[in-house]
Amino acid sequence: MDFPVHVLAGSVIGNIILHHATKYPSHVMEKHRQIQAGAAGFLWGVLSHLFLDALPHYDWLFKLDIFRPLPFYWMYPQILTTLPVIVITFYLTRDYWQIAGAAMLGGMYPDIEKLLYFDFHLPRSFVLFPWHSCRLSQSLWEDEHKLFLIFFEICLFAVMMTYLFWIARQRESSMTMADTPACALHAGRRPA
Ligand SMILES: [Zn+2]
Repeated sequence: MDFPVHVLAGSVIGNIILHHATKYPSHVMEKHRQIQAGAAGFLWGVLSHLFLDALPHYDWLFKLDIFRPLPFYWMYPQILTTLPVIVITFYLTRDYWQIAGAAMLGGMYPDIEKLLYFDFHLPRSFVLFPWHSCRLSQSLWEDEHKLFLIFFEICLFAVMMTYLFWIARQRESSMTMADTPACALHAGRRPA
């Protein structure tokens, strides 16, 4: 599937992890919990990528050729649509952006591996997911149903983006609650 969908899935995973890890009464994470959360985010991000690629899809952003004279012209639509997702995610998770970043990196990882294998001759023995990264995945059925699959991908993106803002909002209100003096006393902490 296209890059922004994978990165957004990683972002959603990072935000879900952060929402649970920084829930009232304690929204401060110790260093070792941050590392655990980052590792979990990365792993779930990789799994989300493999799951999304197992769904029928038509990588329509890869097929736009408006940048064709440039080297790696197929990368630019992916980069231009992925950058806003990264910026929004880092803004929403600015207190623990590294954790959301690790989850987004996990969401990207299998395609980074695929790019390295096909375009930079990464030895096959270094490829962790050969069934994903050592073959180009487009079936005849997907070609025939490309309009439906493009529509499906855009809907999936819109649903995940809506959910991302919703979960970020939930986390923010949970943290605001933890910061109120009454709650801080209840949690055994001195009010600020
Ligand atoms: Zn992929």
